[in-house]
Amino acid sequence: MSDLPSPLRLPPLEAEKKPPLSLDEALAEAHRCLSCFDAPCTNACPTHIDVPRFIKRIATGNIAGAARTILSANVLGASCARVCPTEVLCEGACVLGDHHRPIAIGLLQRFATDYAMARGIPPLRAGPRRPGSVGIIGAGPAGLACAAELVQAGYEAVVYEAAEWPGGLNTYGVAQYKMTPRVSLQEVEWLARCGLDIRCGVRVGVDVSLAELEARHDAIFVGVGMGAVPPLGLPGEDLPNVVDALDFIADLKLGRPPLIDRPLRGARIAVIGGGNTSIDVTTQAARAGAATVWLLYRRDQDTMPAYAHELHLSIEHGTRLLCHTVPVRIVGQDRVTGLEIEQVRPEGEGRTAPLVPVPGSRRLLEVEAVVRATGQGGVDLLRQLPGVAHRGGVVQVDEWGRTTNPRYWAGGDCISGGKEVVNAVAEGKRAAQGIIRDILARKTS
Ligand SMILES: Cc1cc2nc3c(=O)[nH]c(=O)nc-3n(C[C@H](O)[C@H](O)[C@H](O)COP(=O)(O)OP(=O)(O)OC[C@H]3O[C@@H](n4cnc5c(N)ncnc54)[C@H](O)[C@@H]3O)c2cc1C
Ligand code: SF4
Repeated sequence: MSDLPSPLRLPPLEAEKKPPLSLDEALAEAHRCLSCFDAPCTNACPTHIDVPRFIKRIATGNIAGAARTILSANVLGASCARVCPTEVLCEGACVLGDHHRPIAIGLLQRFATDYAMARGIPPLRAGPRRPGSVGIIGAGPAGLACAAELVQAGYEAVVYEAAEWPGGLNTYGVAQYKMTPRVSLQEVEWLARCGLDIRCGVRVGVDVSLAELEARHDAIFVGVGMGAVPPLGLPGEDLPNVVDALDFIADLKLGRPPLIDRPLRGARIAVIGGGNTSIDVTTQAARAGAATVWLLYRRDQDTMPAYAHELHLSIEHGTRLLCHTVPVRIVGQDRVTGLEIEQVRPEGEGRTAPLVPVPGSRRLLEVEAVVRATGQGGVDLLRQLPGVAHRGGVVQVDEWGRTTNPRYWAGGDCISGGKEVVNAVAEGKRAAQGIIRDILARKTS
């Protein structure tokens, strides 16, 4: 049985930025959908939610049916409705976007799944019990999607989670203004009630060994995500208030002070990086009251890996973007007081062109904190996985998510190096289907 910590213990924090649709708004929006044949919105969704079908169900007042359509393809439909970059997925593909406004697919999906969650309508139905058990490492989106697929097919799925709370980055990472930890935990609890066995506070490789998991289960799914941001190797990096972006965001989300010795409100901070995580740090910090937020990126704005719409939002929040800029040293005696930076220019064309310093361009930014957001490394556990090939924290898998050890499967950020929640869900589900095929093949051989 799962014994999940209650989300009610969490502090009430900032509300989600996008307000939910009312019934009238949802009906009006749903009636705009053209129910396209071979719908591009469905094709653009990594979990292939039948978008026109669920929207039609909303339009006809069958909200529970709409939720069932969504959840049958994506059990984390409630969180994906909030956190998916719909601008570049389903809504980006909507035919109405060419000349009008695309259908607000994310908000409609949220309307239907919230309706079902609030009424306790089960998000899945456990299948008749079959012999076969799978151990799942990590209760992030990949692990949860894998477990849900297995439980629906009648197999035992036990999820081992190192953290106090389940949900992975849905709970600890995704920006607060998109989804609160409370919503993420309510969603997990909703799933757990349907038969997912989630054991939090169990670090595989420490609290339980891989050998024990191998003895208990027929197959093991690795959904451990990525690890900490590696050090930059800068002088002064061990000073207090030099923080990892993931810790910074998790602290903010859970209502803990992210800086050691001062409130974030009124602070000046520098964020180093150019991906979506760095952008989330800047926006979150600004919303939490930081006085000045600098974002340092070593190349030009066009080559930033972050989504343009996320960067735009961050700049709207007052972020000061410094392109072609690198950190040189972190300054301070017993805490951070500044960051020395330098301008660089590329020698040649393209994203990999070497960068050379611009002579005489060094200057000091007066800041009280520096946040490292330069990309995550791999989790420690990967080194313990027997016969599982991985490189740079990324596990090698075949088209079903099977690793180089046939008893181990993997999905989510630990096979992609970091994508979106919806990709992790799709990969967790795919691996579960591969595991089921494998268990069935072994039982019949
Ligand atoms: C700051 C940030 C913001 C993001 N924002 C968005 C967004 O807005 N929209 C979006 O779609 N995606 C976003 N993403 C990406 C998204 O969160 C990830 O792609 C997704 O969470 C990956 O799911 P996962 O299950 O693979 O890994 P995770 O969510 O990282 O979950 C892995 C789980 O495994 C657990 N674990 C690790 N080691 C062990 C062990 N030894 N034993 C037991 N458990 C272990 C971890 O504690 C964790 O709970 C964001 C990512 C970050 C870092
Ligand atoms: S592409 Fe847009 S209009 Fe067509 S089915 Fe999808 S949501 Fe409806």
